[in-house]
Amino acid sequence: MSLPTKLTDFSLAEARDAVQAKKVSSKELTTAFVKAVADARPLNAFVTETPEKALEMAVASDVRIAHGEARPLEGLPLAIKDLFCTKGVKTTAGSKILGNFIPPYESTVSQNLWDAGAVMLGKTNMDEFAMGSSNETSHFGPVFNPWRARNSNANLVPGGSSGGSAAAVAGNLCLAATGTDTGGSIRQPAAVTGTVGIKPTYGRCSRFGIVAFASSLDQAGPMTRTVRDAALLLKHMASVDPKDSTSVDIPVPDYEATLEDGVKGLRVGIPKEYRIDNMPPEIEQLWQKGIEWLKAQGAEIVDVSLPHTKYALPTYYIVAPAEASSNLARYDGVRYGHRASGPKDIVDLYERSRAEGFGKEVQRRILIGTYVLSSGYYDAYYSRAQKLRTLILRDFTEAYKKCDVLLTPATPGPAFGVGEKTADPVEMYLNDVFTVTVNLAGLPGIAVPAGLTANGLPLGLQLIGKAFDEATLFKAARAIEIAAGFTAKPTEWWRAA
Ligand code: GLN
Repeated sequence: MSLPTKLTDFSLAEARDAVQAKKVSSKELTTAFVKAVADARPLNAFVTETPEKALEMAVASDVRIAHGEARPLEGLPLAIKDLFCTKGVKTTAGSKILGNFIPPYESTVSQNLWDAGAVMLGKTNMDEFAMGSSNETSHFGPVFNPWRARNSNANLVPGGSSGGSAAAVAGNLCLAATGTDTGGSIRQPAAVTGTVGIKPTYGRCSRFGIVAFASSLDQAGPMTRTVRDAALLLKHMASVDPKDSTSVDIPVPDYEATLEDGVKGLRVGIPKEYRIDNMPPEIEQLWQKGIEWLKAQGAEIVDVSLPHTKYALPTYYIVAPAEASSNLARYDGVRYGHRASGPKDIVDLYERSRAEGFGKEVQRRILIGTYVLSSGYYDAYYSRAQKLRTLILRDFTEAYKKCDVLLTPATPGPAFGVGEKTADPVEMYLNDVFTVTVNLAGLPGIAVPAGLTANGLPLGLQLIGKAFDEATLFKAARAIEIAAGFTAKPTEWWRAA
């Protein structure tokens, strides 16, 4: 296989092979990405760049390689979503309230990556506390999608909340990135930037050291340019961790080893409830194509029903804010984070620190969450949402009696314009219609690039798997990747800006 001519065009797996074979050094590779990051500042994909740290890590990696001590991701430069605590490196969660927070410890996922030899390029921009679908709620300003519609200079959103990671991967600013997904924040930005993103099964990756949004839904996962890269990266992110009691002690398979096994005989379920009202014809057609691609490679297509799907969005938008309101109570201006100046008393300190530190969307979620948990409304909202969550999971369990994976659209449309959906929060929430069910049920889901719209914007398909069966998702996603032959790249307009 011939290697790309530009180092920044390497996939993660290609770079790994080239570094291990000593065809390129980590220093060369890292230098190229450090420059790409600096050249792409108009995208606003990074909150913090760590070029010195990157080069220091790269040099150390080259020493290990020279000594024949290369680890699986030795010398490979990655970007880390700014929700993962990184020891000694500012971690903001996209919020003013953590604007100056320098964690004294490392998240388990990022530690796993460094232990595997990876190099840190910096921390990527994101929606504030991962609340959003467009990266527009970040205190540090929106991220722009590297993709623009044909013949247009309009800036589009990269999706959210892992928008900076998605833009960094799509724009070749890193080999791969980490994301987190509470209701779609890996899969949705992956889909609208033409990249691959997988939310693993709840419990697959440790949540320790990831700033909490909704703890029963949050999962970390990889964002990459190829399915193979996602398989490779997840292997090294996942672990059982005594510091996260919800992490699960199930061996992490070598996903790469079974990646090319094909889909012959795989039963692919098509849930009829995902055919939503006013579904754009382009999405419907893409879904149909996905079905044909899998069928042509030997998969068996079965119709299934997930009858409670219509309750998923309202359920999610009760459960997630409820947990967020509780998790975010810790930001009080006392222990860490933004503190209002000159408080008259402790209540004034709490109130003003929070009012000044949290943005509008986060405040909205805290208000909703506090309301649905309050004694008068708990039964009407929170408790009912929990019951629906059980029914949604039961739907999947029933469906998996007839199939092994599900194929659905990943998003209801391509990337939209910056500012286009900010006026109405409910319109923004509708972007998550295909992704939140997976979090509510704790299942794995992957978004894989599948085509372009008529005006040249990427669209993705989603595959949903059985719990802890990420291996099958990778296989099926690989089959789609092969059939789709998605090779389009955005024009690098930001370099001229
Ligand atoms: N867009 C969803 C929300 O705003 C999901 C975000 C996420 O997965 N972190 O809550």
